[in-house]
Amino acid sequence: MTEPLFDIPAPPVVPIEGETRGFPVRRIFCVGRNYAAHAAEMGNEVDREAPFYFTKSAHALCLSGATIPYPPGTGDCHHEMEFVVALGAEAYRVSEADAMESVWGYGCGIDLTRRDLQGAAKEKRRPWDLGKDFENAAIMGALTPKGRFGEIGAQALRLTVGARVAQEARLSDMVWSVPEIIAHLSRFYHLAPGDLIYTGTPAGVGPVGPGDHMRGEIEGLVPVEVTIGAGD
Ligand code: MN
Repeated sequence: MTEPLFDIPAPPVVPIEGETRGFPVRRIFCVGRNYAAHAAEMGNEVDREAPFYFTKSAHALCLSGATIPYPPGTGDCHHEMEFVVALGAEAYRVSEADAMESVWGYGCGIDLTRRDLQGAAKEKRRPWDLGKDFENAAIMGALTPKGRFGEIGAQALRLTVGARVAQEARLSDMVWSVPEIIAHLSRFYHLAPGDLIYTGTPAGVGPVGPGDHMRGEIEGLVPVEVTIGAGD
């Protein structure tokens, strides 16, 4: 094997509730427009033909509890609170009926977004990477195994910024269910252990700035928390 010229960081590891070992992250997939009220607030309609995706690199991951610098290059950094699915087995061209077999567990995540850069990209029909895939843009709370969480139903999801409730919805408000997302995504990728899927955000997204503290909760899961520090 060719010796590497230098070392690069190992994959990030997300803590698991009540366990000493954590969940290593391989890839991060994100679903766009998966709550009708959020699509509407962004001036879009939900595409009921098929879900769509963007990705964040694993090194965009930020663990809950951190204080992160205000992201560079933006004047409009938004929170997007999301239900995150963690995969623990391979899935390729799986049916909706079999899709849940690949799920390891769930967590609370925040898809941090440079909304101004995403908006400029949309306008010019360019990729969203600058708006979505940057350092600390995929914030993750500790994971809970699938069996301990139980069935995905009408669990409440909430994000507060300071004392203000910004986002509130139920998991049953998702346009595309978790089995539908996994089955669809597995037509395009060999999904594998370590993959995370951010399943989209409900309405109420908005800007955060230096000094803001965000706390995201989903019934039955460990909350995700992050504080924005000064810019760097
Ligand atoms: Mn999102």
